Amino acid sequence: MLLHLLSLLWVRYKNLKLMMRFLVYIIILIFLQGCGQKHQPLKITSMENKEAKNNPYYSRTDTTKLNISNDEWKKILAPDLYAIAREAATERAFTGKYNEFDEIGEYYCSVCGNHLFRSTSKFASSCGWPSFFEADKEGVYYKRDLAYGMDRVEVLCKRCDSHLGHVFDDGPKPTGLRYCMNSVSLEFVPNSEK
Ligand code: FE
Repeated sequence: MLLHLLSLLWVRYKNLKLMMRFLVYIIILIFLQGCGQKHQPLKITSMENKEAKNNPYYSRTDTTKLNISNDEWKKILAPDLYAIAREAATERAFTGKYNEFDEIGEYYCSVCGNHLFRSTSKFASSCGWPSFFEADKEGVYYKRDLAYGMDRVEVLCKRCDSHLGHVFDDGPKPTGLRYCMNSVSLEFVPNSEK
């Protein structure tokens, strides 16, 4: 196609200057098309990141109680977080990012930013989920959970009512409790970033 156009122009004008100008236009066109393709994936990535952080209710300083419908949360939260936090699903054992994790800092609710645990109360448990022997009393509340034929105590976020995990009485001293949490429900912030 391009060769055909070039030969037509050559026959018609036999003008070297015009040919050169035509070639420059073609080169610029090809260059611009190449640039567009190259930058397209970057644009998509930045949109995805913006969407993930688009949570107007998240705050690590505002402790005002939230009363947000699940329909609204579904628009804001990532699907795995929505399933665990709002539908009490459980992440697969030994897959969570905080299961084997011992950095010093604080743990906040992934949904609303409420303070939940300190790293000083985290202990190495073999259960497959991040475990703590103590929670922030201002951060969590409890509900009896009789689902799946078990009698358990569910742990929920006091600010946004999201499901976090369960608490059992087989933990270490000084409390004897084991807060068995979903990593997805937690957001760790190292002390250096506070
Ligand atoms: Fe929360």
